[in-house]
Amino acid sequence: MNNLKKIKEFWNRIKNFFKKGKPAAPAAETAEPWVKKKKKSWISTWPYWLRRSVWAVFLTGVLTCFFVFLAFFWFSFIYLDDEFDLSGVDTSLNYTSVVYAVKDGAYVEAETLHTSENRIWTDLENIPEDLQWAFIAIEDKRFYQHSGVDLIRTASAVLNFFNPSSSSTYGGSTITQQVIKNITGEDEQTVTRKIQEIRRAWYLEREYKKDQILEVYLNTIYFSQGCYGVETAAEVYFGKTVNELTLLECASLASITKLPTRYDPVQNPENNLERAHTVIDEMLKLGKITEEEANEAKAQELVLHVGESKENESGGTAINSYFVDQVISDVISALVNEKGYSQSYAHSLVYSGGIQIYSTMDLDIQSAIDKVYSSASNFPKITSPLNGEAPQSAMVIIDNSTGAVVGMAGGIGEKTTARGLNRATQSYLQPGSCMKPIGTYGPAIEYETKIDGVRVAPGMMLLDQGVRQINGNWWPKNYDEVTERLMTIQAGLDQSKNTIAVRVNNALGAKTAFNFLKNNLGVTTLIAGSGYDENDQAMALGGLTKGISVLQITAAYAAFPADGTYTKPYTFTKICDQNGRVILENRVESNTAMEKNTAAVINQMLQHAATYGTGSVANFGKTAICGKTGTTNDDKDRWFVGYTKYYTAGVWFGYDQPATVYYSGRNPAAMAWRSVMSEIHTGLAYQSFPAATGLVEYTLCTESGKLAGPSCGNTLVGQFFADSPPTATCDLCAATPPEEETPIDPQQPENPDDTVNPPAVDQPGGTDTPGGETKPGENTQPDEGGDQKPEEGDSGGTADSGGSTA
Ligand SMILES: [Zn+2]
Repeated sequence: MNNLKKIKEFWNRIKNFFKKGKPAAPAAETAEPWVKKKKKSWISTWPYWLRRSVWAVFLTGVLTCFFVFLAFFWFSFIYLDDEFDLSGVDTSLNYTSVVYAVKDGAYVEAETLHTSENRIWTDLENIPEDLQWAFIAIEDKRFYQHSGVDLIRTASAVLNFFNPSSSSTYGGSTITQQVIKNITGEDEQTVTRKIQEIRRAWYLEREYKKDQILEVYLNTIYFSQGCYGVETAAEVYFGKTVNELTLLECASLASITKLPTRYDPVQNPENNLERAHTVIDEMLKLGKITEEEANEAKAQELVLHVGESKENESGGTAINSYFVDQVISDVISALVNEKGYSQSYAHSLVYSGGIQIYSTMDLDIQSAIDKVYSSASNFPKITSPLNGEAPQSAMVIIDNSTGAVVGMAGGIGEKTTARGLNRATQSYLQPGSCMKPIGTYGPAIEYETKIDGVRVAPGMMLLDQGVRQINGNWWPKNYDEVTERLMTIQAGLDQSKNTIAVRVNNALGAKTAFNFLKNNLGVTTLIAGSGYDENDQAMALGGLTKGISVLQITAAYAAFPADGTYTKPYTFTKICDQNGRVILENRVESNTAMEKNTAAVINQMLQHAATYGTGSVANFGKTAICGKTGTTNDDKDRWFVGYTKYYTAGVWFGYDQPATVYYSGRNPAAMAWRSVMSEIHTGLAYQSFPAATGLVEYTLCTESGKLAGPSCGNTLVGQFFADSPPTATCDLCAATPPEEETPIDPQQPENPDDTVNPPAVDQPGGTDTPGGETKPGENTQPDEGGDQKPEEGDSGGTADSGGSTA
């Protein structure tokens, strides 16, 4: 716009110059007699005003040309058009695209994509000449003569630009230029863009035949009412195929594209008809129709058949799996963002461009998911509070070694819509306690958060009690009870105690947690600002303003088994054209979310939680398993997010419209997680996580939470960071002398002055701690997922974790 302003200013100055300029003095008689007196030129016989006008026009023309060419070369030079290669532009977009998936390490054809809702591709040979010429006549008369850019049109467009009163019916763009616009979606009126468009138009004309360009044009133009391409428009407006259109109908369609809303035959029938008559006149002028035909057409009434379109004869859009739906979305946005294509062009390329999409779907994993998700009978039967609506569920599995999504379910039961609601990626859900590891414990370990001068560590003891009073009640409450006793952070995580998480979060700072999630773990749905997500309720308890998708939370968790590296989840690796030429390679985006050792500490803590805590219900025992349950207020959502060394998986279970899930059996999300993960780990070797370093065990007094003194009765062993040991010794028990000799804790060091044990030999997955005799999987049941065993909620009856942490 700035450029245009400058040009206008420049133009005004020239205009003013000629207005103010004094009439040139009549050529003085030359004094020199030897100079032959020039014969008065014929021009000088013109009246002064005429001469002035001719001069003005001539000078303006020269200056404009000069200016335009200067600008053109300047922009061409500085704006080298290297990112827009038209390699993906295939002019015969009528091929089925194929999505490949991985099976036993090799790519196999998984699903095909074909024609979508409002877009049907028709080859030029099947488009009647009347329809072709209707568009050429009104949009680009010299289409078959010019080489992409019509200099006459461009010049007149430039002049019209300076003369707003002009009522030209044409824009400056040729059909070729409009094809560029349709492909790139760029429609911004700037000089730079215009010049870029001209360059691209020349390129297109050099590489493709006129007919190919016209075919792309007729199949990609927008016709209002959400439809693209002549075939779709014919069906939407007239309930016909293009072959059945009358001349008037052809002209009517050609009228729409200039300003689709103003000339929409449904919304503005008079405008459309008037312009259709103009189209017919133009066709007559070009000699493409006879006068008789023109008159006959103009005498007809235009009858619309909106909403009477035939069932899509080509079979409509294929109903693909939830995974492939997500692949389609990801491929379209990559084509838009990386290749500069418009949304609509990318869409048609995906559905009818015959492209080959290499997805990251692992067919074995996907089939394990499908086995569970194909039928509601694999989930507990739950009476719905909402007139019969069945609860839903979604799952995502990520391969930890690559960060790629390898399996996905967006709902339970048969999928009946093409690209309908995908609960794995499109539903934003409240994560409940699944937030604790990523929103509180992870960042607290990473940023070395201190409470009373000591670094937050698994063995630190905190009070299981609310932190503040709201309307006279302590907040937060726990899912089960509030014991008002000290417990270790590990036990708080195992039992999913809200009180402990909030205490840690308050020490960490909700804003720090917020930034960690947003910047390090790719959680994009958080909303900044007070009153939104920058508070302990959101960061510790998962009460988010907008919610989080299963995909996002799974990807965030996947940073833990990946040694602290977060990878933005992706569903495809590359796209090739039908000849196998790579159109686009998907760049994997990763960042270090946390120190390797932070991840190792969280792995250890979550393994404990999935072995002795609420998460044990998901433990299938074939390998080391880490994870966390989640339940939201009033039991609306049930979650399990967890991982092995191989895969990370997240499962949500609840209603689309949040409502209480009246169910007291084992967490259905955890059960689904267990079924699928157990199957996909069949035959894989047991793998444990690298041990955390820098943790040292101390014996604490359970009464004071401080280092146990000689008089302390009940003690436990807890891990702290070696660089930040607990310093205070119990001062509660000292006053009361022990009734009898306290049994010596076997873990107590020989030297009573030094309570530090040698660095922990803690091996997650091995024999763990006091209480560690429970083997992974032992306290879990076969995965019927039935509605037996009412006692296990989020706060589970997990006895093991109470007094012992490691
Ligand atoms: Zn004590």
